[in-house]
Amino acid sequence: MNGATRLVFATRNAHKLREVATILAETIGAVGDAIVGSDAVGGPEVTETGVTFDENALLKARALAQVSGLPAIADDSGLCVEVLGGAPGVFSARWAGGHGDDAANLALLLDQLRDVPADRRRAWFECAAVLVTPAGETWVETGRLTGTLAASPRGTGGFGYDPILVPDGERRTCAQLTPAEKNAISHRGRAFRSLAPRIAAALGRG
Ligand code: IMP
Repeated sequence: MNGATRLVFATRNAHKLREVATILAETIGAVGDAIVGSDAVGGPEVTETGVTFDENALLKARALAQVSGLPAIADDSGLCVEVLGGAPGVFSARWAGGHGDDAANLALLLDQLRDVPADRRRAWFECAAVLVTPAGETWVETGRLTGTLAASPRGTGGFGYDPILVPDGERRTCAQLTPAEKNAISHRGRAFRSLAPRIAAALGRG
């Protein structure tokens, strides 16, 4: 793959851009302005019509690589609950209807699980991280964070379903971990660390 100097990330979320830049910095060194968000290149609004995390991440990265002429990275993630057959999954952000209403999503899920005992509350966060070049080369990596769902929310950090997922080997929920503690074990951390060598190559650091 030819080294580009810039790479674009299919997100409008500055928090996510910083989080992924921090994860990558540990593996390939500081990325600085080498990775920009989709707004910097007039990236398109993409409807997530896929039924898997891989499909949605690829939809976002392909559209952005095409519009920008740059290598593009994207991710898609969500919470999968064993007794619900893997739901909410790709519907995690819109489980209660409105897109991105974290409090309503979490309240609905807790209500749906209210009769499920502690030993049946297995769940995991899953993330697909992808890199697509303008020529159409594609790499996909996935990461998981497995744990158990608490009966009620605890902690104020993080976002989404963080206050109810207690990672294996932890007593705290994800919302009670520091950002560094969460990045070290998170689905997103794992997926992007696996993709990091490809991202380094795309940035001409391979
Ligand atoms: P996205 O892939 O960042 O758009 O995430 C989709 C949805 O999955 C979010 O709105 C959250 O509900 C959920 N989710 C993804 N990652 C996490 C996480 O690390 N903690 C809590 N919830 C998450």
